[in-house]
Amino acid sequence: MHPDMEKILFSKVEIDEKVHELGNILSRDYVGKELLMVGILKGASVFLADLVRAMDIDVRIDFIAVSSYGTSSKSTGVVRILKDLDKSIELRHVLIVEDIVDTGLTLNYLLEILKARNPASVRICTLLDKPSRRGVNVPVDYNGFAIPDEFVVGYGLDYNEKYRHLPEIYVLKKEIYQYSK
Ligand code: 5GP
Repeated sequence: MHPDMEKILFSKVEIDEKVHELGNILSRDYVGKELLMVGILKGASVFLADLVRAMDIDVRIDFIAVSSYGTSSKSTGVVRILKDLDKSIELRHVLIVEDIVDTGLTLNYLLEILKARNPASVRICTLLDKPSRRGVNVPVDYNGFAIPDEFVVGYGLDYNEKYRHLPEIYVLKKEIYQYSK
């Protein structure tokens, strides 16, 4: 195990099984519809890449990058778009693909921005969810794992841009994010 990690939360096999389970549900729910899957950069890129390959319907992919206003890691709920979608989503079925929902503020704001563009539908799919931290009632339609309030990394999730490449999901040692900068 990587020396910065406290413990493993989900193994490669557990993640793979969950991604396939979600892929099957999505393929069934969106059959016959033109689906646009929107990954939120950078964290959701690994999940999105695996998820689309676990689906057996035609999908399109786009990415959006947002940054949250405010100090340090505290989410304020107001997001700035750093990289917008390449194409219009008007009358399209949109699925936002996120790595983790924490307070829900970022996603709630993004949802409002995308809804204002008049899509046929917008739903949310997240791999991880911290329900105990939810500050706003953001509608999560598809959820992989509910997790406790711990800081996790790996499988796309970072701390200071590190650890995204790890194939498993880990709880990061507290001393790593308490004392490093
Ligand atoms: P929210 O607006 O829901 O509070 O913030 C969600 C964002 O916070 C996620 O997209 C992610 O970037 C970050 N985040 C929240 N919890 C964690 C965590 O446990 N690990 C990592 N790496 N990022 C997290």
